[in-house]
Amino acid sequence: MPRVGVLALQGDVREHIRMLTRLGADAVPVRRPEELAAVSGLAIPGGESSVIDKLSRIFGMQEPIRRAIADGLPVYGTCAGLILLADRVADGIAGQQSFGGLDITVQRNAFGSQVDSFETELAVAGFDEPVSASFIRAPRVIEVGASVDVLATLPDGDIVAVRQGTLLGTAFHPEVSGETRFHELLLEMVRMRRVTRVTVQA
Ligand code: GLN
Repeated sequence: MPRVGVLALQGDVREHIRMLTRLGADAVPVRRPEELAAVSGLAIPGGESSVIDKLSRIFGMQEPIRRAIADGLPVYGTCAGLILLADRVADGIAGQQSFGGLDITVQRNAFGSQVDSFETELAVAGFDEPVSASFIRAPRVIEVGASVDVLATLPDGDIVAVRQGTLLGTAFHPEVSGETRFHELLLEMVRMRRVTRVTVQA
């Protein structure tokens, strides 16, 4: 049973813990560097990216998370979590920082005030059936680097799901709609990395 953390500074932490537990993981909240060191994968929840950013610096978590990402820790970010994984945030609040890792630019609150929140069926690369996706004051990806795989776009072309190596990000919230496949993908990356590490060390 892989131990997987959910960054628990702000946001819908409980929903991610519930989802990962349901999928058989030992899911734990992560607030401190020691807790981060004890997990083999991490989910960064939806919430408010500027708040999670600030709290991560107050709690001394920014550098450890950046190091873990550089070291290949599998991380899945939803919504605010996607913003925090982006190398570039187009319209953060003054001084807003991210952990980075995904070679993308995100635009926060990209869908205007009238359609702040909506649900839609989305085809996702690698999934047989479409995903029921909840967008809640969601960002969109406005630029992707060459090594980023685009997994899903809205009908107008807006990029809303990406993967780059062990980093996965969605602008929507599968943990809210009960969609399990993205969290399964995170757990699969965790298992793959374990196998690779054991092989390399042997
Ligand atoms: N608008 C939020 C932000 O900028 C993200 C919203 C969400 O995570 N549901 O961080």
